[in-house]
Amino acid sequence: MADYDYDLFVIGAGSGGTRASRVAAAHGARVAVAEEYRVGGTCVIRGCVPKKLLVYGAHFAEDLKDARRFGWQVPSDCEFSWQTLRDNVLAEVDRLNGAYKKTLESHNVEIIDQRATVTGPHSVRLADGTEKTADKILIAVGAHPAVPSCPGHEHGITSNEAFHLDSIPKRVLIAGAGYIANEFAGVFHQFGAHVTLINRSKDILRGYDLTIRDRLLQISMMKGIEFRFDATFEGIEKQADGSLRVSMSNHAPIEVDLVMFATGRMPNTHGLGLEKAGVELDDHGAVKVDEDNRSTCPSIFAVGDVTNRVQLTPVAIREGQAFADTVFGNKPTRVDYDCIPAAVFSHPPMAGVGMTEAQAKQMLGSVRVYTSDFRPMKNVLAGREERALYKMVCDGDTGRVVGLHMIGPDVPEILQAAAIAVKAGLTKAQFDATVALHPTMSEELVLMR
Ligand code: NDP
Repeated sequence: MADYDYDLFVIGAGSGGTRASRVAAAHGARVAVAEEYRVGGTCVIRGCVPKKLLVYGAHFAEDLKDARRFGWQVPSDCEFSWQTLRDNVLAEVDRLNGAYKKTLESHNVEIIDQRATVTGPHSVRLADGTEKTADKILIAVGAHPAVPSCPGHEHGITSNEAFHLDSIPKRVLIAGAGYIANEFAGVFHQFGAHVTLINRSKDILRGYDLTIRDRLLQISMMKGIEFRFDATFEGIEKQADGSLRVSMSNHAPIEVDLVMFATGRMPNTHGLGLEKAGVELDDHGAVKVDEDNRSTCPSIFAVGDVTNRVQLTPVAIREGQAFADTVFGNKPTRVDYDCIPAAVFSHPPMAGVGMTEAQAKQMLGSVRVYTSDFRPMKNVLAGREERALYKMVCDGDTGRVVGLHMIGPDVPEILQAAAIAVKAGLTKAQFDATVALHPTMSEELVLMR
């Protein structure tokens, strides 16, 4: 190892790269991490964290309205300043960026603020031309928003730019109907924009349980968000007044002030030099890895979104940790991908863990489904019609809970705890044996019929 500049050279200081760097360093490795943009990666800088803060900000639109029913005198001309929220969120991002850097520094990880590309199994080249060598290289460069190559696509933005807007546009069109589309639809709508989502297929949030996503669709439409399905993007034309005319298949063109693409994310492998080291990519450009995150080049590993396994921050962190413990900590560890809970921070949010009803029927044959469809008491007093829906999918033979799917206020907070029980393989009877905590929404989990 001593012949190399470092024991480990990490490319990308996002969630996976940062965890791997500091854990490997804690195990005694000499580590450098190269980052071309900002330490923290997508999640901290332009993803989960600032998005969640916007979701909190957006929720006040409804909370302030509801507050009147709870006796608060909220003036009807109550104003919202996007610039204030945006700047506060960006300042928080700066703070976190600083905290991430400090953590790396305190673990003696050398931070290199440059792009690095691979030149061989043990070597990288920095943007300034410097060559560095390492016994192991970890690719943790993440992914970027995919933008369809239609005419005028350059007039659209992605979630990257959404955090920096000068103002909230009056009319927003979002292409896609997945996580980012539904989360930002809620945010823009609560800030007063008219939002239209267009999607190539007939579905929103494919992969989530059908009943739950149908409920989101129904509530979103009730709030005034428009949906257009079976619509393939054909082009964007910028008009003299600055507005954008969007054409799509099967529907009339639509005029908006902002187009945002939320049509999936592609691994950041282009131009990274991986072919020089014999690192194979899959059809989407993702680094092919084995269960130990090792690529087809024995000294090069990859974790996180660049491997396109599960594009979620906590998974990237686990992969980074498992890599560092296995390779530098003499503690072989593999990530368990079973029963990963996930949430969509839409308005209201959705969350799910385990098999959907359809998956369970296909895999188990005998399935029992329990639901609770209720109006949370806060919504009742607020005069808000939105109903929450919880669904429990059980193995029909054993009663084991194999899936939990929810939509309603705070469900991501509730699901995290319930996911432990699903992961542990508990049965419906064991849920029912737990006394309800009254009055809460989560008590529905132990009262389902
Ligand atoms: P998603 O995969 O969630 O959704 C992509 C959407 O774009 C789908 O509606 C899909 O349609 C559509 N689409 C895909 N490709 C094309 C194309 N070529 N042309 C037109 N439409 C297309 O991606 P997102 O961009 O929303 O998010 C990326 C990933 O980031 C997510 O998968 C998730 O892993 C992660 N993420 C997680 C969050 C969370 O945990 N809360 C929040 C945000 C992102 P179709 O109906 O055909 O599938």
